[in-house]
Amino acid sequence: MSQIETRLWINNEYAAPHNGETFPIYNAFDGSLVADVAVAGPEDVEAAVQGAEVGQKVWFDLSGVERATVMRRFANLLRDATKDLARLDGLTMGRPVHTNDEGTRSAATWEYYAGLAEHVHGTSSLLCPGYVNINLRQPFGVTCGIIPWNLPVGAFAFKAAPAVAAGNAIIIKTSEKAPLAIAHLSKLIAQAGFPPGVIQILHGAGKTGALLSEHMKIRKLSFTGSTNTGRAILRASADSNLKNVTLELGGKSPTIVFEDADLDQAIKDCAFSISFNSGQVCIASSRLYVHAGVYDSFVQGLVEAFKGVEHGNPQSESTTMGPQADKAQSSIVSNYIEVGLKEGKVVYGGKADGDDNVNAFKPTIITDLPDSSAVNTEEVFGPVLVIHKFTDEQEVEVLKRCNDSPYGLYSAVYTKNFDRAMRVAKALEAGSVGVNCNSPFTANDLPFGGWKASGIGRENGPNGLDPWLEYKSIYMRVAGL
Ligand code: NAD
Repeated sequence: MSQIETRLWINNEYAAPHNGETFPIYNAFDGSLVADVAVAGPEDVEAAVQGAEVGQKVWFDLSGVERATVMRRFANLLRDATKDLARLDGLTMGRPVHTNDEGTRSAATWEYYAGLAEHVHGTSSLLCPGYVNINLRQPFGVTCGIIPWNLPVGAFAFKAAPAVAAGNAIIIKTSEKAPLAIAHLSKLIAQAGFPPGVIQILHGAGKTGALLSEHMKIRKLSFTGSTNTGRAILRASADSNLKNVTLELGGKSPTIVFEDADLDQAIKDCAFSISFNSGQVCIASSRLYVHAGVYDSFVQGLVEAFKGVEHGNPQSESTTMGPQADKAQSSIVSNYIEVGLKEGKVVYGGKADGDDNVNAFKPTIITDLPDSSAVNTEEVFGPVLVIHKFTDEQEVEVLKRCNDSPYGLYSAVYTKNFDRAMRVAKALEAGSVGVNCNSPFTANDLPFGGWKASGIGRENGPNGLDPWLEYKSIYMRVAGL
């Protein structure tokens, strides 16, 4: 790969920031400086919005089929770039390169939305005598996606692909922790044939995000990140132009393992769910409720599974679990483990071995913890798993404990009893439920999003363009009808 790209992407060209400001990116593994990345200030935001206004008009003048063709070309380029993107994510947020197929996976997301781009339909009716009424779906115009650092290329696809499939232009604000993969893929936007301005990429931290969320000309904003930032964005929208806002926020996902579960499968899935991407996944299953009859074997099985984890440099083929993204994330994880040590029992885990692996933790199991403990109620966003024992046969008590959370993003249940699985799936307060499977499994063709403080709105699914389209009702009086 050529030199690491760090500039903004405006009107299909790399651009230096107007005021020359940059921020440093450090290697997640050893803390060394990787690059200085451009910060988009007010002038850059204005340039991006103005260019997007022009680009959107050109883009919306194309047919749905033409838009889909460009999107499919982009998907192919993305697929080819998978290894380069993985290497950059490995540097910034520590995901082991050989576990990172984000380029390929998100190419599939782009292709899914390319299909939807060919099917933007409204409705029509003859329900009012004397009228033919039609309802059109039209793009908002200039939209915005603000994304987190944990799965950068995937989050980029979840925002940009539906936005442009619906005929919008979009400005993506990358995360200050992991902008490099997106900076690298920016050039593919022009190569695929998107007109200038249709996809703009800005880097920077919360200040840049705030400029976008309060911008009067941005009509739609889709945000993925923490619940607190989601609240700030909603407030900024309320105080500016009341832009339409979709929020994909945090989680504290519970899993129930009943006595009749396929234990080996449950252990394998739960181990993967909390260790994948070093636990830095919004839907990671971080609260387990295991029936007393299988509790000991389950915990023992998980410990054995975790012993097989290989920590190390994310660029190495042998590493199966990387470090936390940076010092800040690593100290958050460390603090929650401290709480676990004080209020419960740490059965396995803690800091990973190796002095040079500064931000790495083993998957950590905490038991014997009161439900009120912060490790049980708050999102850690790291490889920290709380396991509770339950005994009730009627599901009522354990469901109450699962649902007693401000979050409602994902949940899972393991049992061979179909009726029980369905009863529990219905009762769990979450946007997604795994039945005998667990996160991070999600599919482009199912709506994804959270209940309660985990979000507002949905991404993906056959109606995945809905959040990116306005409605327009047209009433047509017809004489003699
Ligand atoms: P974060 O909220 O700190 O930052 C997310 C983005 O918001 C970044 O680009 C950041 O620069 C920007 N931002 C920060 N302050 C802002 C402001 N005032 N106005 C506008 N933008 C601002 O979150 P993070 O640490 O990057 O990501 C971790 C969080 O994201 C976790 O809570 C995780 O659960 C959540 N997440 C949710 C999903 C989902 O689909 N529900 C997916 C991935 C991550």
